[in-house]
Formats: sequence, C-alpha cells, structure tokens
Amino acid sequence: MTPSSSATHEVLNQSPPFEDVDLFGLDKSLAEAVAANGGAAAEKELSEFGQHWGSADMAARGRFANENTPKLRTFDARGNRRDEVEFHPAYHELMARSAHAGVHNSTWSAEGKPAGGAAEVVRAAKFYMAAQVETGHLCPITMTRASVAALAAQPDLLAKTMPVIGTRSYDPTFAPWPTKRGMTLGMGMTEKQGGTDVRSNMTRAERDGDAYRISGHKWFMSAPMCDAFLVLAQADEGLTCFFMPRFVPDGSVNAIQFQRLKDKLGNRSNASSEVEFAGAYAMRVGDEGKGIRTIIQMVQLTRQDCAIASAGLMRSGLAHALHHARYRSVFQKHLADQPLMQAVLADMALHVEASIALVMRLCRSFDRAPHDLNEAAFMRLLTPAIKYWVCKSAPGFLYEAMECLGGNGYVEEGILARHYRESPVNAIWEGSGNVMCLDVLRALSREAEAASAVLQGLAEGARGLPGAADAVALIGKAFRRPDSERVARLAVEKLALLAAAAALNKVSPHHAELFASTRLAENHASMYGAVELGNDDIRGLMQRALP
Ligand SMILES: Cc1cc2nc3c(=O)[nH]c(=O)nc-3n(C[C@H](O)[C@H](O)[C@H](O)COP(=O)(O)OP(=O)(O)OC[C@H]3O[C@@H](n4cnc5c(N)ncnc54)[C@H](O)[C@@H]3O)c2cc1C
Repeated sequence: MTPSSSATHEVLNQSPPFEDVDLFGLDKSLAEAVAANGGAAAEKELSEFGQHWGSADMAARGRFANENTPKLRTFDARGNRRDEVEFHPAYHELMARSAHAGVHNSTWSAEGKPAGGAAEVVRAAKFYMAAQVETGHLCPITMTRASVAALAAQPDLLAKTMPVIGTRSYDPTFAPWPTKRGMTLGMGMTEKQGGTDVRSNMTRAERDGDAYRISGHKWFMSAPMCDAFLVLAQADEGLTCFFMPRFVPDGSVNAIQFQRLKDKLGNRSNASSEVEFAGAYAMRVGDEGKGIRTIIQMVQLTRQDCAIASAGLMRSGLAHALHHARYRSVFQKHLADQPLMQAVLADMALHVEASIALVMRLCRSFDRAPHDLNEAAFMRLLTPAIKYWVCKSAPGFLYEAMECLGGNGYVEEGILARHYRESPVNAIWEGSGNVMCLDVLRALSREAEAASAVLQGLAEGARGLPGAADAVALIGKAFRRPDSERVARLAVEKLALLAAAAALNKVSPHHAELFASTRLAENHASMYGAVELGNDDIRGLMQRALP
C-alpha cells in the first residue's frame, strides 16, 4: 500500500501542501513594491528570509505554536505567586527567528534613532512574509520595535535599554532585563471601562523616590512574558507613560499579577492577559500628563504593522487559493482553468497587488519622514486610512480564499482557517475602524495645509486613472462637511483606494489602471469575481501572483 492510500481507496485529486516555497521569489508584487520604494538592494537578504520562512519546518512551528496555546501559571505548587506564562517551544523558535532577522529592531540605529535608508521597507517585507506563516508571535515583535519610539521621550532610559533591545538575540529566560542577551516589550493601555478612551484610565501612579508605584489594572495586556511594559497611569499631573519591568532593581519579581489569559477567536499562540498592578515599580517615560502624546509614537508604528500583517495574511490566502486551484480538477478541468474561478482569483490578485503596493508606499514615508515634511504628512494622514482599509478588507478576503479550497479551506489542518480567525484582530486593536476614521479627520483639521498637500500629491500620482478625479472631489467635499463624521467611512475608504491606485501606478501602471477601473470608477461589488476583466488580464494577474 502506498502512503497516499487507505484501506478502501487511493487519495486522488488533492493539492500537495503549499510548503517548502520561496515566499519572496514567488512574490513578484512584493519584490517590485520593495524595489519601487527604495529597497532593491535588500533582494538577497529578503530572498534568504523568504526561503527560510516558506519552509515546511517553519509552517510546522506555526501550527504547533497555535495548537499548543500558552498556559498561565499563577502559583507554584506551594502557593507562591509565579505569574509566569509558559509557551510551546515552537513559539520560542518563531520568536528567535524573527529576532535573528531584526524584525523587532532593524528600523533603529544602535542609539535608537531611525536607521534611515530603506530600513522600514525592508523590515516590512520580512514582517509581511512572517505574517504568512505565524502572526501571534508578531505581537511582541511589533511592540518591541515600536516601543523605542515612545522611549525616545526619556533619553536616559532609551540609552540604557537600547543595548539590550538592539541585539538580535531572543532570550526567553525570566530574569531582570539588564542581565539578558535581548529583551521584548509590551504595552498596557486598555482598561475595563475604556480602551479607545484611555483618558478614562483609573490606574494610579504614586511617586516613590525617583520611581513610581502603580496600582490598578489592565483589561488587555498581551505578550505578558515581555521583559517590560509601557503602561499608562494617572499621576498627579495627569495621564502618564511608564516603563514597568518584570523585576524591580533589587532583583525581586515586580508586583504584576496576571488574573487570567483571554480565550480568543484567533491569535492563539499569543497570550493576552488581564492583569492587576499591586503597587508595581515603574519609571516615568516622558513628562507627567503627557502619556498619550508619548505612547502615540509607539501606536503609530504598531498601526503600520497591523496593515502589513493583514496584507501578508491576504497574500497567503491568495497563494494557497491559486496553488490549490492549479491542482484540483472539477468536471475534468482544473479549477484554475474554469472561467468563473479565474474571475475570482484574478480579482483577488488585484486586491493583493494594490494592498502590498500601498503598504510599501506607506513604509517609505516612515523611512523618509524624519527628513521630509511632505512624507511626514503622508505618514500622519495615511497610516490610519491604510490601517482602516487594509485590515478591514482582510476577513472578507480570507473567507473567499478559504472557499476557493472548498471544504479543505475550513478545516484546521490547513492554514486558511487560522488566518481567517486571526484576521479581524488587526482592525480591532491599536484603534478600531471608527477610531481610525476619526484620526484621519483629526489630522485633516489639525494639519489642514499639510493634509491638503498630501491629497494633491495623491491626485498627481493617480492622474489619468479611471475615477481618480471624482474620488479626489468626493474626498475633499466629504471632509469639508460640518457633519464629516457621518461620511467619514466612505471618504476614508476612497482616500485609501486613491492612495492604493497612486502607489500601484508607480509599481505597475497597467495594474493601477485595472484597479482604478474596478474600484474607483465604480464601486467594487461585495463579492470577489463580480468584475469584468479581459482574458489576458486574468491570465496575467494569476501568473504574476504565483508563477
Ligand atoms: C487580542 C487582543 C489583544 C490586545 N492586546 C492589548 C494590549 O496588549 N494592550 C492594550 O493596551 N490593549 C490591548 N488590546 C485592546 C484593544 O486595543 C482594544 O480592545 C481596542 O483599542 C478597542 O478598545 P475597547 O475594547 O475598549 O472598545 P471601545 O473603546 O469601547 O470601542 C468599541 C467600538 O466603538 C468604536 N468607537 C469608539 N469611539 C468611537 C466614537 N467616538 N465614534 C464612533 N465609534 C467609536 C470603536 O471603533 C469600536 O468599534 C487587545 C485587544 C485584543 C482583541
């Protein structure tokens, strides 16, 4: 009997696993978007990363880390508090691989300044590929990278932590951070009475010499085995950002008491805790009363990563759907040759094409913002708009990708069920959909001139594309309305679509034309495949998406 046979029949007409693939080499849209945004020189580095992360070995680690979810050990056998979370070894291996490739720190110099060049674009390409394999572990990876932007408000603390954050070692030992080979950082803002409205935080901070003692709770605090957390609490002068390490300077464990871990829809390899601070030791980051201004620097970067990860999840969905459709025959013909399935796959490929071009264009603005005011304005206005559109489009996209695999798509052995369950979280955390729209409105009202220059730049970039001029007019009109909140979702979506068309125009003008004609000139139908593309375009899009 062959391994592919059972007692009653031979297994036929099933697609082989989509494993041991080169996630970079197979992805023309990614390579071109990276090159168009300044990252061409990193091709070899990204190719090595893509081959490694596309291996069957890494896929297995992703599966193990999600099947064997983290466990909270609140007490030891004698009743002493432990407050430790245990992870499967596969989770630690994923963390080590991401850290080794600098996904948690490569956008910073050794001193914690922006690394410059195309560091954001290159790191984003790695984040995009890693998200195709396992997304849960990317939570502490993204928070560690982003925390540096907030720590910049406290230069003495940044100078002390940077030598440990800046290594490419992952050190999971439960020990004081100054003694470790590498460290990870998390973030605690959300409380029971308010997540969006952090001003309602009730957690209190009392001065204790040069440090503070924090008392209160956080309703969501992910990656609880991080070595330190940036936490918001009310000090005398108002809401303030604090650095709260797992150990106090005398070497004892800090009073950070985990209550339970959340039982989540997805994101299962990542632990998300409910936590009490019982007079926990912390150091101030930035001025008292300036907590939101300090931590928003971190949140801007985690929002960027939400969009990159969602684009990565969609890319993975598309690649699995195309791969399956090329092997699976129905009515004596491969699915990939059936006109109706082609219409679905090509339309999905167009969505991914635009998403990755858009996300990489955003990352270029992060690379350039420190030296270019226009790029800083682009980054400010477009980060929430892109997080809104890319992240909110992912669940619907992944549902369609899953359906391309039929019943197999719905089953946990495959990765698409996991991707589907994972996808909504990127739209919810780091500012949910409406909050992103309100943030776009805030940028428009507070930095009106800079925002209008960005809009003009997008109009230039998309000039001549079908529907672009009307979209520019609609956006301008909607945002000028006194009741702009009522139309904010419509206007923010149009803004993201316009930016996507402009970004794709730089990478592949023909695809920008197709994207604009199906998304800007007319409203895209609610289902993929309900647009009319020519035969050559359909074949071209499918071939380009997965050679
Ligand atoms: C898996 C997971 C992990 C998380 N990890 C962390 C973590 O590590 N650290 C942390 O601090 N938080 C974490 N969070 C919390 C997350 O950031 C919040 O859930 C999120 O910011 C929303 O806050 P909320 O749940 O309080 O909802 P609310 O603030 O009550 O919002 C509910 C809804 O109302 C909408 N809304 C809010 N204001 C307005 C308005 N003015 N007009 C119109 N609509 C509005 C929002 O868009 C949202 O859809 C995590 C959440 C999840 C799901």
